[in-house]
Amino acid sequence: MGANLLDYDLEGLALFCERLGEKRFRAVQLFRWIHQKGASDFDAMTDLAKSLRDKLKACATITPLSVLSRQDSADGTIKWLFDVGGGDAIEAVYIPETDRGTLCISSQAGCAVACRFCSTGHQGFSRNLTAGEIIAQLWFAEHFLRTHLGRDERIISNVVMMGMGEPLQNYDQVLSALRTMLHDHGYGLSRRRVTVSTSGMVPMMDRLGQDCAVALAVSLHAPQDALRDSLVPLNKKYPLDALMQACVRYLDVAPRDFITFEYCMLEGVNDTPELAQALVALMRHYGQGQLSWCKLNLIPFNPFPASGLQRSSAQRVQVFAQTLSAAGVVTTVRKTRGDDIDAACGQLAGEVKDRTQVMRRIDKRRAAEPAHFSPEIVHDLL
Ligand code: SAH
Ligand code: SF4
Repeated sequence: MGANLLDYDLEGLALFCERLGEKRFRAVQLFRWIHQKGASDFDAMTDLAKSLRDKLKACATITPLSVLSRQDSADGTIKWLFDVGGGDAIEAVYIPETDRGTLCISSQAGCAVACRFCSTGHQGFSRNLTAGEIIAQLWFAEHFLRTHLGRDERIISNVVMMGMGEPLQNYDQVLSALRTMLHDHGYGLSRRRVTVSTSGMVPMMDRLGQDCAVALAVSLHAPQDALRDSLVPLNKKYPLDALMQACVRYLDVAPRDFITFEYCMLEGVNDTPELAQALVALMRHYGQGQLSWCKLNLIPFNPFPASGLQRSSAQRVQVFAQTLSAAGVVTTVRKTRGDDIDAACGQLAGEVKDRTQVMRRIDKRRAAEPAHFSPEIVHDLL
């Protein structure tokens, strides 16, 4: 088994080329073929010498993730389930909007943070994804969509790391994948259009700010430590004060002049008007009297049976949102997209929960066809 070139950012690919005795600039050509044109076959890379192509064929591959299933929502949302081996599967979701195309991708199989309201958290942690497995979600979705939609230009303009896993607990691999997303020879995405969402890994927020200051979303869910401890266990390690101070530090480097806070609305748990007021006070305190440095994104909870929790009623969400807005906090309520295919955040793990079932599907697929599956073929496997 040779190296999988999807695993390398441009710097890594340059080192790889050097080890092959090739000039570093060859890496740029290769990188562009892989990420901009979606090539997975060295023979397609017609501006590379035949001798180099043969050398590459002998020691490297461009191996995508295999698709276990694809589900298309009536609203245009598409969800893929990818096999990452060992019975684990991860998900990516494409969400089309009029002015942008957003891909939500995963950073880990499972998650160790174990938030109460998150079905990925309920599964436990399985493993970190490699940089290649992270970027392969974008690679696949972008090039699949170009073919599927019959368009030549770039389809995915925004990436959010809001799928399975806590990205800042898989820092090195996430950083490498981010570099490929941002690089002009890669996907050329702007820093403002790539968002890392974190449950509050304070030290890594600072590192991200130094290494690759993309947009930051912080999953807050509660304005008080006791409540947040019970919803996001990581809060016991990095309590609100430490988290909020890290957010303020991040503002210095953030690509926009605000931080987004996500707040999952749980009926009777964190959705009272008093907590909305406490949230305003928290934001005002760390904003030194100002509120323009933050945006609140209220997410209606996507229920799943094991959580024992319920989605706040539309009316409670409304009152909560109005309390924030009236105080001067920019507040949005997330539209639920892809509801008919369980594609919304927090449901990404749904299909993976029954691992034996996944293994059965993987075995069935492997028995039927040892090579890579096209999404159409596996579409009806689930
Ligand atoms: N681990 C990171 C990123 C992945 S979760 C984080 O926690 O930020 C992405 C977002 O989905 C987070 O804001 C998370 O709180 C939210 N989420 C998780 N489960 C959810 C559910 N069941 N309903 C609604 N939002 C959920
Ligand atoms: Fe992990 Fe994020 Fe889910 Fe919490 S919400 S368990 S941090 S994926």
